[in-house]
Amino acid sequence: MREYQFYIVPTPIGNLQDMTFRAIEVLKSVDVIACEDSRVTQKLLNHFEINTKLISYHKYNEKSRLELFMNLFNEGKKVALVSDAGTPMICDPGSWLLKELIKNKISYTALPGACAVTTFLSQTPRDDEFFTFIGFMPRSANEIKDVLNSYSNSNIVFYESPNRIIKTLETIKSIKGNVNIALSRELSKLFEESIVDDIDNVIEHYKDGIKGEIVCMVYKTSSNDNVDIERQISILKDAGYSSKDISKILSLLTDVSKNDIYKMVK
Ligand code: SAM
Repeated sequence: MREYQFYIVPTPIGNLQDMTFRAIEVLKSVDVIACEDSRVTQKLLNHFEINTKLISYHKYNEKSRLELFMNLFNEGKKVALVSDAGTPMICDPGSWLLKELIKNKISYTALPGACAVTTFLSQTPRDDEFFTFIGFMPRSANEIKDVLNSYSNSNIVFYESPNRIIKTLETIKSIKGNVNIALSRELSKLFEESIVDDIDNVIEHYKDGIKGEIVCMVYKTSSNDNVDIERQISILKDAGYSSKDISKILSLLTDVSKNDIYKMVK
């Protein structure tokens, strides 16, 4: 098999059986494994009887680690990067390092493997292939609104903590109305669960609390159902704008024509 100096290696997101043969082989063959938390990765190495040396690499020491990595490469050594779980550089460290390695002409490759967002998407029904993955949803209502407005033509996929998800869904509802969402938690684990429904029903489903790791998607509002526009019309009407002004404003902000909006206002 072709050899590289730097390997980006995914690890399971909850089920150890999702480790690939190649990931084990690469982690055994490199000289050093850079990991976020050595206690977490050591457990994985023990399970697969991998004896490779670990060094810590996380967002707080990534810049200071570059010299060490470059020295290793200069000595002809190979390095693998893993994160605590899933694919490095997907909401995990690695991007800054890789940029520097590319500048220094270090050869690299990424192995395919476990990742929460791709696992989620591969079991979430969609009408088309368009999606926007934003990483973790920002916290403030204004930032959430910016995200929803910026990517309104796309299904929006995000990671969220169980402590914040209900508040985030309530914020999304206040901005977009009771739209459909998909939510999966604990993917590949014993208590894995997925739900595709409107926000009210999802919140009701979790009225006794929600635990575990979560990926969520807000379905794009199709231009046919006009949920957003109707809501915006009613806000502008309540604020005293004329039908003509409402049509003008909303046709500038959406892809719907002035005439069509005018008909909806009437
Ligand atoms: N690099 C990881 C990946 O490949 O998915 C993601 C790391 S990010 C720091 C951790 C977040 O990913 C969690 O807070 C959760 O939103 C999501 N996540 C990780 N494992 C998951 C799982 N088994 N089920 C659902 N979401 C998961």
